[in-house]
Amino acid sequence: MPAATADCLVIGGGFAGLSTALHLAWSGAKVRVVERGRVGDGTSSRASGWICAQLRSPNPLLALVLESLAYYPAFLARLGTDCGYAVSGSTVAFDSPEQLASRRTIDAEMRKVPAYEGTRFLDARELRELEPAFAERMVGGAFYARDAQVDPRLLLEAMHRAAVACGATVHEGAEVTELVRDGAEWRATTAMGDFTAPQVVNASGAWAGAISDQTGFELAVMPVSGQLLVTRPHPGVLRSCVIYQPDPRFETTLACGIRPAVDGRLWMGTTYRAGTYDVSITTADTQAILGAVASVFPSLVGLEIEQAWAGVRPVPTDLLPVYGRVSSIDGYHIAVPIAGLAEAAIIGKVVAAGVMGGDAGHPEVSPDRLLEAD
Ligand SMILES: Cc1cc2nc3c(=O)[nH]c(=O)nc-3n(C[C@H](O)[C@H](O)[C@H](O)COP(=O)(O)OP(=O)(O)OC[C@H]3O[C@@H](n4cnc5c(N)ncnc54)[C@H](O)[C@@H]3O)c2cc1C
Repeated sequence: MPAATADCLVIGGGFAGLSTALHLAWSGAKVRVVERGRVGDGTSSRASGWICAQLRSPNPLLALVLESLAYYPAFLARLGTDCGYAVSGSTVAFDSPEQLASRRTIDAEMRKVPAYEGTRFLDARELRELEPAFAERMVGGAFYARDAQVDPRLLLEAMHRAAVACGATVHEGAEVTELVRDGAEWRATTAMGDFTAPQVVNASGAWAGAISDQTGFELAVMPVSGQLLVTRPHPGVLRSCVIYQPDPRFETTLACGIRPAVDGRLWMGTTYRAGTYDVSITTADTQAILGAVASVFPSLVGLEIEQAWAGVRPVPTDLLPVYGRVSSIDGYHIAVPIAGLAEAAIIGKVVAAGVMGGDAGHPEVSPDRLLEAD
């Protein structure tokens, strides 16, 4: 069987791969996405739905998330559907003056990143007025009005549909078992046949290290699995996405966050299990989430849980995403996010610009920095 050809092959049908395929197709390139399962089968269908700048550190990821936040409305308009998008803001609560002070210091650093407008700090009364569900012991909070939310599954469907509509071909059930440079082309071997293209984008998420090994470029991506619970609809109990993070001086495997989706369901999570691809629903994680909700939002105890799932986050080991061309390997590009839903709009724009030979910008997250770090 002759190989199926394209201008660019994208390995992985999650947010990173679909966003890249969309931006390539919008630029007129012939693109094929090869996905080993179904679109979204990896991590993207497991996300919580936060497009959140407030909780980031003052680093290049914050700049990308801010760029993505600004671009999201135009991106969704181009997809032709809103996917449950809402600019609901995010509220962080603190239960000690030390936590509040530490957040003020971080926020001052974050303000040095262009486009970050600074959070609005709240005293205990203002926090309670904004979000009465927080426990009485909270001494204050911080509200960032520009943070947004979107339904991850609706977004995946819309991105998939739009990619196909604008000419990209998405091959599901096409696991890449071998990737080799063959003259001027990459050749990907899959159960559905071979695919060739002069350019390839590795957008295979938490599995990107294994694909990259075949190109000779070492890419260290740590899998961090985590669980989420979704309640039946309870409209009106929260206005914004709310979060409480235990004191950062203590080791924690949990941040207690709740996203009030536009349909009234509360998405509650999430846990962090580093170094594992295990996506089973565990009693320990369920109890950890429910225990945290009980202590931070006492009035939300006993809500009926409708769904639970877990996914595995790709986390490059220097805690920054990896976008763009590997300059030492012809036609090899990487698209590995960290906050993959928040970055879903921007990642493809940046990576596709590099594939098309333009200046992708953002050298601080380029794969080449990983070589410099060695
Ligand atoms: C519980 C949870 C909550 C989260 N909440 C949020 C959130 O609220 N906001 C946010 O910004 N981020 C969130 N994240 C993180 C976000 O989901 C990920 O960063 C994002 O989904 C990663 O997208 P991706 O396209 O890189 O990876 P994936 O979606 O995993 O896509 C990679 C694809 O590559 C495929 N693949 C792998 N190997 C091969 C191969 N050999 N051949 C072909 N295909 C292959 C996989 O099947 C997979 O579909 C959350 C993650 C978890 C687990």
